[in-house]
Amino acid sequence: MEAPKKKIAVMTSGGDSPGMNAVVRAVVRTAIHMGCDAFAVYEGYEGLVKGGDLIRQMGWSDVRGWLSEGGTLIGTARCMAFYERPGRLTAAKNMVLNGIDALIICGGDGSLTGADRFRAEWPSLLEELVATGQLTADQVKPYKHLNIVGLVGSIDNDLSGTDATIGCYSALARICEMVDYIEATASSHSRAFVIEVMGRHCGWLALLAGVATGADFVFIPERPVSDCWQEEMCTVVKRHRNYGKRKTIVIVAEGANDKDGNKIIPEQIKDLLADKSEGGLALDTRITTLGHVQRGGTAVAYDRMLGTIQGVEAVQAVLEATPETETCFIAINENKIVRKPLMKAVAETKSVSKAIDEKQFDKAMSLRDTEFSDQYKSYLTTTNVKTDEHKLPEKQRMRIGFINVGAPAGGMNAAVRAAVAYCLSRGHTPIAIHNGFAGFARHHDDKPVGSVREFDWLEVDSWASKGGSEIGTNRELPSESGMDLIADLIKKYEFDALFMVGGFEAFHALSQLRIAREKFPSLRIPMVLLPATISNNVPGTEHSLGSDTCLNELVQYCDKIKQSASATRRRVFVIETQGGRSGCIATIAGLSVGASAVYIPEEGISLDMLNTDVKHLKKVFAEDTGQSRAGRLILINEKASSVYDAKLIANIIRDEAHGRFESRESIPGHVQQGGVPSPMDRCRAVRHAIKCMEHLQGYGKKSAAGATDPLSAAVIGIKGSELVFTPVKELEENETDWPNRRPKQAEWLKMRGIVDILGGRPQHARPE
Ligand code: ATP
Repeated sequence: MEAPKKKIAVMTSGGDSPGMNAVVRAVVRTAIHMGCDAFAVYEGYEGLVKGGDLIRQMGWSDVRGWLSEGGTLIGTARCMAFYERPGRLTAAKNMVLNGIDALIICGGDGSLTGADRFRAEWPSLLEELVATGQLTADQVKPYKHLNIVGLVGSIDNDLSGTDATIGCYSALARICEMVDYIEATASSHSRAFVIEVMGRHCGWLALLAGVATGADFVFIPERPVSDCWQEEMCTVVKRHRNYGKRKTIVIVAEGANDKDGNKIIPEQIKDLLADKSEGGLALDTRITTLGHVQRGGTAVAYDRMLGTIQGVEAVQAVLEATPETETCFIAINENKIVRKPLMKAVAETKSVSKAIDEKQFDKAMSLRDTEFSDQYKSYLTTTNVKTDEHKLPEKQRMRIGFINVGAPAGGMNAAVRAAVAYCLSRGHTPIAIHNGFAGFARHHDDKPVGSVREFDWLEVDSWASKGGSEIGTNRELPSESGMDLIADLIKKYEFDALFMVGGFEAFHALSQLRIAREKFPSLRIPMVLLPATISNNVPGTEHSLGSDTCLNELVQYCDKIKQSASATRRRVFVIETQGGRSGCIATIAGLSVGASAVYIPEEGISLDMLNTDVKHLKKVFAEDTGQSRAGRLILINEKASSVYDAKLIANIIRDEAHGRFESRESIPGHVQQGGVPSPMDRCRAVRHAIKCMEHLQGYGKKSAAGATDPLSAAVIGIKGSELVFTPVKELEENETDWPNRRPKQAEWLKMRGIVDILGGRPQHARPE
């Protein structure tokens, strides 16, 4: 006899956060795909307690188009009844009556605490329901073990154990967008702005917004300013004004306190900045409270991806659970999705708030994840550039060359800025090599003057949110410029280390420099590469700077196109993405917009594949009742096939559709490089650049470590749950698919199956 279908319900609870809809869509569709019945509980715990129409079975097409909607479409509420046992008793009854045996909850720590309490009480709730005659023993028998899995949906990023909560990067994006706007007016009028952002117990949003925008001062709950914070802040602002800065930005988390636990309010800060008395700053100061705009809008690409893959993982966790399995939640550490014990994380989160209340701030800081404390260090480095506090003794100060190689990518400038800040704060001399190796080599010809020069901090300080590459970039490899010339120039400028930022060309360049070390002793200086390319194809990392910016551009582009399709006719858009011979961007964008198919170079395109996909589209449109008039999207990487391109595929589809639906190609092209880099790219740029500087500094002045130490020519990167340096030699020899200019193995390839399943693509369309 076939086992009864598992019934899995999904719910969103607590404050809404962008990406919750991606969770619901992923849970519903994965559950259906796995042969289960999917349910949605509307209005959070309120729906569970009230039951009736608030608990609904969901079909495949009920969640169509949800990825591009903000908030949560199944609603959320704060439910007082669920705090009390009688409320939870009714909720249990409703679960049994609906036959639900697993609950996936997306919410903040409160919602997850409620969930765990519910599960702990479950057996006694069932007993009481039977004892009071509300249900029979037979009715409750199949539901002995309640299965609960948590997903963290919150804009605050306040849950311990996970690097990011679903929604936090969307909120950060909104904040940074607003601060970027404000900066323009602040700079024009030479004004100061005090910007209040959300975060009652967690300063993540304020801190990362400060890092991403290059704010002058940040107030966060975990690290209250000292007794004389007024003086401290004014000193920093004065210092920045003295070297010529025309704007002052102070970001304050709503939960920021001083050391005694007194709330720091924006008016207080404004009064200090505007103080016209002798020695006061006398700045024209305004306050902006961002409020609920921080929650609003559609989710950024990262939150859609995170919500989706965590939703899929949650269903898998439900299906694998046994009665003994501890209640888990789904976390992400760097780039790795992991299941972790729910109550431990909730307890740790509560202990951060407790530590803050008890004024144990070091403890609070230590309980946050490493990214948080790294970013706090980043913020201190970039705001304390012109102080002597951290300067190294003269003989340890290095001359560090900075070079960008390859196409521009979002975050390059933020990386250079942070690294320059680090150098200046330690007493090193950062030197810009303009326009890559080609610019370096041309300088030798004494043609353009100034292609190698020291950075001017006032100029660099304004680069935090700038797109492109301010020091210029070029694809030329050192071998093309002349390796002996490059080696001579490195000697001539007496570089002690080289900091490279760029994509696959930069990786190739680093490899060439390493190999040439044997012949040219001047190349034995330590060198490090921070990968930056929208293609995300650099061996040694799962995330290159610029790829998140590119994904956001693509997602916005696709959202608009999809909307135009729904407003006109039934259409399939075939959208060509960049990415070189790496299908990473196409695949993750496909995941984030709900593509019907994604074509990538790793798989190529066969006639069979096209045939299957076209047949499927015909079927979908034939079954379409009109309710889902929205367009369908197919994403194709620019190098997926040497025969089929976007135009040809669109033509084939149109021809096959016989007028029943339309098809068009669309090529966003260089738009994908993005305008303003995403905050994620900017923040990662800052954190990783500072790590690179620490790495180079570790070798000291005049080091010839290149003769012996493999890590003296290294790539920094995220690998699984870690941020690591890998020797370029190891990457060249073992991990690089040279002909295709990409890593041999890539983590994102695992997502292809998910895109297909959730997009409803026939399983046999792709080769395995
Ligand atoms: P946010 O991050 O937006 O604050 P949250 O999930 O922490 O989200 P809460 O308001 O704390 O938001 O919790 C949401 C709901 O979860 C509550 O309205 C309540 O129904 C339930 N809940 C929270 N804590 C508990 C608890 N200790 N016991 C039972 N239910 C709880």
